[in-house]
Amino acid sequence: MHYRDTENQAVSFARQALGLMKSYRVIANPRNYMIWYDYCSGHNPGLKRAIDTLIDKGTVINSAACDEIYSEFYNADQEGAIIRETSTRIQENLGQVLEMISDANDGVVKYGDALQSFSGKVEAGAAGEDLRSLVEDMLRDTRDMEEQNKVLRNQLDSSAKEIDTLKTDLDDFRRQAMTDVLTGVANRSCFDTKLQEWAEEAGETGIELSLVMADIDFFKKFNDTWGHQLGDQVLKLVAATMTDCVKGQDVVARYGGEEFAIILPNTGLKDAVTVANNVRKTISTKNLKNKKTGEDFGKITMSFGVSTYDPGEDLENLIGRADKALYGAKKGGRNRVLSSDREGGLSMGYLGDTDASGPSPASLQ
Ligand code: GH3
Ligand code: MG
Ligand code: MG
Repeated sequence: MHYRDTENQAVSFARQALGLMKSYRVIANPRNYMIWYDYCSGHNPGLKRAIDTLIDKGTVINSAACDEIYSEFYNADQEGAIIRETSTRIQENLGQVLEMISDANDGVVKYGDALQSFSGKVEAGAAGEDLRSLVEDMLRDTRDMEEQNKVLRNQLDSSAKEIDTLKTDLDDFRRQAMTDVLTGVANRSCFDTKLQEWAEEAGETGIELSLVMADIDFFKKFNDTWGHQLGDQVLKLVAATMTDCVKGQDVVARYGGEEFAIILPNTGLKDAVTVANNVRKTISTKNLKNKKTGEDFGKITMSFGVSTYDPGEDLENLIGRADKALYGAKKGGRNRVLSSDREGGLSMGYLGDTDASGPSPASLQ
């Protein structure tokens, strides 16, 4: 982030940041200071909203909360820095390879000249001792050339290996940057990218594209009753269940907190409602139990909102329509699927009390 604040502004933001850190008992290390400076300056609206939500909810802003904010809002900068560093290392490596090839080239030219002069002298009738010494020189030059080639081959080999390692590191890093750390499904940034990509594809080819937004019901109560750590286990279980319920190109993402999304390419509204209902049913019939003690944590349910892309529509509108349907599902009693039509009108997909299948066990911890 580049800061363009004037000196007076910077002093004022710094004072506010330190004051707030003191009152929320946030440890005043440089990283936390950066977060709170950005909060006070309002440079990063997403970060400001996230902290305001924590403050509104009365959440304790401890080190773990600061860690989460940092990884959510500063990852992109970190990503840029790592990509820049890797590309510099690859460029340096290629520079060295080019230098080696150019040196080797000089050697080849010299060797060619030596060969030519040798052939010229033989043609001119060199014989006896002269010829013997000429052949010896030529043999030495040829061995030198061979040695040079061997060194070059080894250097090129090790250079190729290093470039390969850098590429793998970069691929791993890209994969990590797209993944939600807790649940292993796509993170919000990956969701935004994939939705954009599929919407472009839908615009060009006319394929259908649907979106499911899903939110765990009464999750705050679950956390309050059983603790945040067990809540985290539930988030992992939900992500794994959703992944099991979808196929191939579909993208399951953690949209934020206890909210998930599924992007369904090549899927119309009716089929998307069926997918959402499968997830709903599978989750609502799981009996959550402690793996070791058998303690019963009861069941959880989720509410779903579904919308289908209207080509040319703003993606915020598509998400907004699914969100509105999700809100309708919450208001209508939760554990249900609602869908939105193109104009944002809502229809009931499935009600929660139509499950025919019995409960299935799910172990936590
Ligand atoms: P509703 O049915 O209306 O969705 O009720 P709710 O309690 O699920 O919704 P609310 O927005 O009041 O609370 C969301 C809860 O989700 C509060 C927060 O503690 C929990 N939550 C969000 N992110 C995480 C997380 O990463 N881990 C855990 N354990 N809980 C989380
Ligand atoms: Mg919820
Ligand atoms: Mg929520």
